Amino acid sequence: MAKELVHETKSKAFWSGRVTAWCGATAKAGEYSTTWFASVTCPGCKAARKARKAGKK
Ligand SMILES: [Zn+2]
Repeated sequence: MAKELVHETKSKAFWSGRVTAWCGATAKAGEYSTTWFASVTCPGCKAARKARKAGKK
């Protein structure tokens, strides 16, 4: 079983159920794992978080 990447949720359109992750990936809710607080494994989301902490866009 392949290990799923866990993305960090950037925003969730609750009216459509569409989720946007910090790495830019979008999917319907449930199509990939997203999390607000737990460990994120997606490299793109991690990089985006790091950039935010560094005060960059
Ligand atoms: Zn991601």
